[in-house]
Amino acid sequence: MRQLTFVDTGRLEWRDVAPPQLEGPAEALVTPLVVATCDLDAAIIRGRTPFSGPFAFGHEFIARVTATGPDVRTVRSGDTVIVPFQITCGECPPCRAGHTASCAGVEPRRSMYGLGAVVGKDWGGALSDTVRVPHADAMLVPLPQDIDPLAVASCSDNLPDAWRTVVPPLEARPGASVLVVAGGAPSIGLYAAGMATGMGAEVHYIDTDAARLSLAQAFGAAVTEGPPPRRLGRHLVTVDASASVAGLHCAIRSTAGDGICTSVGIYYGGEVAMPLLEMYSNSITFVTGRPSARPAIPRVLDLVQGGRFHPERVTTSVVQWDDAVDALLQPFTKLVVERGGV
Ligand SMILES: [Zn+2]
Ligand SMILES: [Zn+2]
Repeated sequence: MRQLTFVDTGRLEWRDVAPPQLEGPAEALVTPLVVATCDLDAAIIRGRTPFSGPFAFGHEFIARVTATGPDVRTVRSGDTVIVPFQITCGECPPCRAGHTASCAGVEPRRSMYGLGAVVGKDWGGALSDTVRVPHADAMLVPLPQDIDPLAVASCSDNLPDAWRTVVPPLEARPGASVLVVAGGAPSIGLYAAGMATGMGAEVHYIDTDAARLSLAQAFGAAVTEGPPPRRLGRHLVTVDASASVAGLHCAIRSTAGDGICTSVGIYYGGEVAMPLLEMYSNSITFVTGRPSARPAIPRVLDLVQGGRFHPERVTTSVVQWDDAVDALLQPFTKLVVERGGV
């Protein structure tokens, strides 16, 4: 089968590899139909991460089930499903508590699609003809018929990541205002702003990019153009999607007393200083880490189905499967790749 492989900075190529097979009774095989880029993908392609190739690329996808093992109950061949980026068992104590990011039932820990180099095992990538899903019932989410797969192509990772930064925090703090310090994780910051305004929150969004600022404005956010200042007001819910230390510190310092600041950025390399005295004095909660994608996916779909949130506005362009390499080498906020003729 054909598999898009990340080889090295600026270098992606289609390779012919052996297709995966069912390896157990609870597994499924799927054919990806629609693939979105994760904010991390652009950073990988442009050499801004420590990850080196080669590995199967892509980890946000909606797929068609093509085969299931005899123990699979919730999906069958022909179903269209959202595939979470994390490989999780659904049965271990962390999974049962909803913390699928810390699944203890799959080795190696932190197993994911499309990022083979990070965990030391290549589970395959979304830009492939076939992908193996080891725990089909626990992982796969059937796509509701009234939702356009192109709109929720990022439901494997970036949409749940944005969701956890604003939706549960706003549910716990009705009437709270939200600050999004954006730019470093470009689509997650926009998704967070769009979900928060969709919930009726007052949202302030800061970024340096004019196109993203107008998208945030279209979602109903108040915007500030420029690099993050030391502080930007006081908000009970703040989001660091800046992937910059200045942005992280701005989000933390702008968090009101007993508020919550969630950072989705990955800070590679050395240690990052934190304004702990201010965090202590304001009794703020700071959250970082990978999202638990699987349990958040149905909640994201609820927001989209209710018409409160339109993720497709963030999509830069939709391209055909065979054009994926050229498109991935161009600048984008969110690229969606569609397999034709299936
Ligand atoms: Zn990702
Ligand atoms: Zn588990």
